Amino acid sequence: MTGPEHRIRDVYDRLVARYGPRGWWPADGPFEVIVGSILTQRTAWANVEKALANLKRAGALSPAAMRALAVDELAELIRPSGFYRSKARKLLAFLDLLDESFEGDLGRLLAAPGDELRSSLLATHGIGEETADAILLYAARQPFFVIDAYTRRTFSRLGVRPGGDTYNAWQRLFEESLPRDAALYGEYHALIVEHAKDVCRAEPLCDRCALAEVCATGLGRHQVAGDERVVQDAAGDDEQVEDLVVAEDAGERVRPA
Ligand code: SF4
Repeated sequence: MTGPEHRIRDVYDRLVARYGPRGWWPADGPFEVIVGSILTQRTAWANVEKALANLKRAGALSPAAMRALAVDELAELIRPSGFYRSKARKLLAFLDLLDESFEGDLGRLLAAPGDELRSSLLATHGIGEETADAILLYAARQPFFVIDAYTRRTFSRLGVRPGGDTYNAWQRLFEESLPRDAALYGEYHALIVEHAKDVCRAEPLCDRCALAEVCATGLGRHQVAGDERVVQDAAGDDEQVEDLVVAEDAGERVRPA
């Protein structure tokens, strides 16, 4: 069996063997996951950690405490995460959703049916598909596979991609290939991020890669070392994937590591 389902499972096994379980999301509770998933948009995780540390020091890392802050105070605390005024408004928009639809009860929000909660999150200012799915997966522990630019880049290079290059098509590819299991989805997304940062970078380090023997790009590089034309052929439209990474840098990004 060599279809996408088999290959996606095989890649998971190889990444676990290489990196071990990642244990995401690194946070003290679901509200911190939600705040982190909003703050990590358009910035590196190290900056998010500084903003979260400020919020913790100020005792503001709970819905009630954050709600009590003036928007300028909140913005100042999260300044290290960049775009801090915009992100303060996004955090307050999430608190509005929590108050208006779930009576301020985070447990009720997290226990809502996944599809309904996803729709509510997507209707909330500042929350797109990647952030909504990160909240569903890592805060609510519901099985929604998170798609990011790392996923698209790595799997395009592997030669495993859906028919259309939309978020939904990518998500369907993974969700139809794997058991519907939030723990598995959470581990897999974390492994993809680790892998992309470690070796499957903008300029991939295929010689060090645990997937090289099952990767269209990696095999091309081994067979014709230095022949960039062949690498491009094997990778498909690699240039387009790089464009996605650039586009993602201007939008959402979920990668707490
Ligand atoms: S072999 Fe190269 S292109 Fe393929 S997954 Fe590994 S690092 Fe990425």
